[in-house]
Amino acid sequence: MATTEEFQPASIDSGFDEGMSEAEFAELFEKAEELSQYFREIGPEYDTKNTFAFPSIEKFKASDLGRLQVPKRFGGHGGNLLQTSKIVSELSKGDSAITLAYNMHYIMAGMCLGLFSEEQNKYWMGRVAHGELMFGPFSEKRAGFSGLADMKAVPQEGGGWKLYGKKTWGTCCDAATIITTNATITDAEGNIPEDFEERVGAESFFVADFDIDRETDQGDGISIKRTWDACGMHATGTHTIVFDGFYVPESGFVCEWRAGAFGVLEWASLMFASIYLGMMARVLEESREALAKKTLGAVFGAVVAEDVKVASVGHIIDGVGDMAYRYEMGRRVLYQTIGEVMSGADDDWPLELRFPYIGLAKTFIADNVMHMTKSAMSLVGGQSFRKGAIFERLYRDSAASLFQPLNGDQSRTYIGEYLLQPEELED
Ligand SMILES: Cc1cc2nc3c(=O)[nH]c(=O)nc-3n(C[C@H](O)[C@H](O)[C@H](O)COP(=O)(O)OP(=O)(O)OC[C@H]3O[C@@H](n4cnc5c(N)ncnc54)[C@H](O)[C@@H]3O)c2cc1C
Repeated sequence: MATTEEFQPASIDSGFDEGMSEAEFAELFEKAEELSQYFREIGPEYDTKNTFAFPSIEKFKASDLGRLQVPKRFGGHGGNLLQTSKIVSELSKGDSAITLAYNMHYIMAGMCLGLFSEEQNKYWMGRVAHGELMFGPFSEKRAGFSGLADMKAVPQEGGGWKLYGKKTWGTCCDAATIITTNATITDAEGNIPEDFEERVGAESFFVADFDIDRETDQGDGISIKRTWDACGMHATGTHTIVFDGFYVPESGFVCEWRAGAFGVLEWASLMFASIYLGMMARVLEESREALAKKTLGAVFGAVVAEDVKVASVGHIIDGVGDMAYRYEMGRRVLYQTIGEVMSGADDDWPLELRFPYIGLAKTFIADNVMHMTKSAMSLVGGQSFRKGAIFERLYRDSAASLFQPLNGDQSRTYIGEYLLQPEELED
C-alpha cells in the first residue's frame, strides 16, 4: 500500500491548517482501494450505457472519501494536496471516467477552501463533511474555460442575482447538490460591461444549492439538459446546465473569478494530473497482463519461429519498459510539483510562470498517457481495437486529457511569451 512516506516535501503549507497522519491516511487509502475495485467492476457497463454511473453515488458516499480534504475543524479528514492526489490516482486506476466525476468534487472543494470566507467555509464545507457533493460548470460553448463568462448575473432589487446562460460542461451534475459557477455581473438591465477590464472585474464566482428534481431534471431557474455524448469519459455525465433566472443570494457571492481561480489553480491542474497518472498505472497493468501471457505459436513475420511468446519479442519488451519509464517519470513530475507548491517553492518562480509551471505536471502526464494508450494497442495487437477491450476504452478516455486545464498548447504559449518578452518588461 502506498503511504505519504513515499514522498514528503520539505515543509507542508498548502493553505490547510491540518493534515492527516500516516495512520489516518492509510485507513482512507484502504477505502480508496476498495472503491477503486468497485469502479473497476462497474466501469465497462457505464461506458457502454453512456451514462453517469448512478450506483457509484451511494458507494462513494459510504466510503467517506467525500470529505477527504475538508479541514478537521469543519468536520473533514484534513487531507492535503499530496494525499488527495494519491487517492484520486488510486480511484482512477479502477475507472478514470467514474473518478473524473468525483474529481470535480475534489477540485471544487479544494479551490473553494482557499476562496471562501470563514463563514462560507463553515456552512458549505460543513455540508460537504456531511456527505454532499460539489461540482463546477464554468466552461461555455464560445470559448471553453478561458472565455470570459457570457453567463449573466443580473442584480435583483432585494439583493442577490439571477443567473442567465448555459454551461456546456457540467461533470458530476447527476450526483452534486452544491453548484459553483462563474457569471458576469451586469447592470440592472442585464448589460455586460463593454470595457474589457471592467468585464474581467465583473466576472464573479458563486456558490449555491443545486436543488434538482431528479425525475424531471428541473430546478427553480435551473435545469440539466442531457447533451453528453462524447468520444470517451462517458460515465462523467458531463451534461449542459441551463440557468434561466436562477437566484443566488448575496451570501452566494465568493470572489472575483479570474483573480481567485488563478490563485488556486493547483487544485484543478494537479487533480487532473492525478487522474491521468492513475490511468497510466492501469495501462501499464493491463499491458503487462495481456503481454506476459500471450503466445503467438508458429509465426512467419518479423520473427520467424515455431512457437513465439510475445514477452520474448524485442519491441514488446522495449515497449513495456518504455511504459514503465513514462509512468515513473509522470509520478515524479507530479509529486515534485505538488511538493514545490506545498513547500511554497513556487513563490520563487516568476509570477507569469506559476500558471504554466504548475500546469506542466498535467500537460506532461497528458502527453505520456496518450502515448501509452496508443502504444498499448499497438503492442497488444488487433484484439485491443475491438469494442469492450479495455485498451480501446483507455485510448478514448485518455484523449480527454487534451482539453482539461491546463491545455498543453496554451501552457507553452504562456512560457514562450514570457521568455520572448522585451528585456525592459522582465522586472
Ligand atoms: C471529460 C471532460 C469533462 C469536463 N468537465 C468540465 C467541467 O465540469 N466544468 C468545466 O468548466 N469544464 C469542463 N470541461 C471543459 C474543458 O475543461 C474545456 O474548457 C473545454 O474542453 C473547452 O475548452 P478548450 O480550450 O478545449 O476549447 P476552446 O476554448 O473552444 O478553444 C479552442 C482553441 O483555442 C485555444 N484557446 C482557447 N482560449 C485561448 C486563449 N485564451 N489563448 C490562446 N488560445 C486559446 C485552445 O487552446 C484551442 O486550441 C470538461 C472537458 C472534458 C473533456
